[in-house]
Amino acid sequence: MAYKHILIATDLSPECHLVLEPATKLHQSLGCKLSLVHVIEPLSMSFGADVPIDLGVLQEQQTRQADERLAEVLPDWPALQREDCHLRYGQPRAEIHQLAEEIGCDLILVGSHGRHGLALLLGSTASDLLSAAPCDVLAVNLKKD
Ligand code: AMP
Repeated sequence: MAYKHILIATDLSPECHLVLEPATKLHQSLGCKLSLVHVIEPLSMSFGADVPIDLGVLQEQQTRQADERLAEVLPDWPALQREDCHLRYGQPRAEIHQLAEEIGCDLILVGSHGRHGLALLLGSTASDLLSAAPCDVLAVNLKKD
């Protein structure tokens, strides 16, 4: 199957090139469009809504940091245009699935640490994305040498 539009889900971490690299190779070999998404998780999700601090200010800071990090990463990946990179707020699975539908992606590329057992229970974005995905999901093994 030839994919036409790949959505790269990235945490913008120092290891994000491990997902961006195969995405670029797929782009070159299939001639498909590339988009990228990074989801900023609202702090109220982590701390609950009753924290007595101004979460708005912290969220602005989170957005600024994500924007700056994106600006650092992008020059290494000329196949990705800034206008095809999306910063979203919310729960990663919901936001990534919704964006994939909105912009018509047929493949989501995500990194996987290959966790199992208790570590998996604590959360894996890759396995979360598989559930009710609107298109195919390809997990890139982040543990490879
Ligand atoms: P994790 O399972 O959270 O360690 O993350 C594994 C992979 O999920 C990363 O390599 C990214 O591809 C993707 N990912 C994690 N967090 C985010 C995020 N906030 N936004 C978009 N993708 C993410």
